[in-house]
Amino acid sequence: MTTPSSSTGPFASTFTSNSAARTDAERSAVLADPGFGNHFTDHMFLAEWTPDAGWQDGRVVPYGPLLLDPATAVLHYAQEIFEGLKAYAHADGSVWGFRPEANAARLARSAHRLALPELPEDWFLGSIRELVTADRAWVPTGEERSLYLRPFMFASEVFLGVRPSQHVTYSVIASPAGAYFRAGLKPVDIWLSETFTRAGAGGTGAAKCGGNYAASLLPQQEAFAHGCEQVAFLDSVENRWVEELGGMNLYFVQADGSIVTPELTGSILEGITRDSIMTLARDLGHEVVERKVGIDEWRDGVASGQITEVFACGTAAVVTPVGRLAWAGGEVDSAQGEIGKVTAELRAALVDIQYGRAEDRHGWMTQLV
Ligand SMILES: *Cc1c(COP(=O)(O)O)cnc(C)c1O
Repeated sequence: MTTPSSSTGPFASTFTSNSAARTDAERSAVLADPGFGNHFTDHMFLAEWTPDAGWQDGRVVPYGPLLLDPATAVLHYAQEIFEGLKAYAHADGSVWGFRPEANAARLARSAHRLALPELPEDWFLGSIRELVTADRAWVPTGEERSLYLRPFMFASEVFLGVRPSQHVTYSVIASPAGAYFRAGLKPVDIWLSETFTRAGAGGTGAAKCGGNYAASLLPQQEAFAHGCEQVAFLDSVENRWVEELGGMNLYFVQADGSIVTPELTGSILEGITRDSIMTLARDLGHEVVERKVGIDEWRDGVASGQITEVFACGTAAVVTPVGRLAWAGGEVDSAQGEIGKVTAELRAALVDIQYGRAEDRHGWMTQLV
């Protein structure tokens, strides 16, 4: 059955419920051990754009495969962007998003860079609200559990010419999530990629686009081959300045308690977690500095004790301690198997706000349901 949704204003969508939705027992079995990115809810959001009509045909429909013509532009030229954010169940049964307006703004910036149409904020927020409302029962409860939301937009015109697509599809899917790294809060080991870069100067590094991830997979394999879980990238010009991991930003805690993160250069993705950590760290009395960080500073700083902790941050894994940094000629270890004090303090401050256990002093939480 398809019914108009209750939303008003420019954003309007319809709802078609999934007649083959999973039973309570099937859903409970998934929610008992969701993992990350393995399971999807019963519905998804879709909308279409054309130059003449703008954004239209917003709809919540049963989750299922998209039927794409083999000549669909995205399959050839990768004109695609995405977002990642989580919905958190609070103790009173309400469901909240963490700074979803910031995801809407970043999606618009990514769209601009990839010559895709900008999705208005009310469409973005409306799409996630309606999907979370339809699949409310899929929002997990419990420690570190959330509903991971994946909005994405792609060139859906059937055309092999190289120019911006004249038909664009926007979608949101949702996946119940436990901890991102199964091993828990154990430090992750990082491989330093000295051969490959993730993003070039003037390229798409600051946009959240699938192509950046495609470029990171070979170096990621190299990391696995060296016993590391993640790969760290340097800048493409001097091969010297630390940028970020394949999907997470980096922070360095100094011996004096100040924390340093690589400044945004245009090839680093501007993480919402990165930005939030900056604010929380200042709240907790740490000096925070955004500046260039050389790879030698990382290696020598850990070796000399000038750098006491290193951590990575992003929506999926929140705040994760970094253990070993390994490269072709050696390695340093900044964690000795344990999460550092400052890393743990910042992580707790952030998740306590996200799960409604601490006061939201910065107005970061937006109620979804
Ligand atoms: C998404 C992403 C991040 C983290 O951003 P958050 O908004 O904190 O989730 C960092 N680096 C890259 C390359 C990303 O794609």
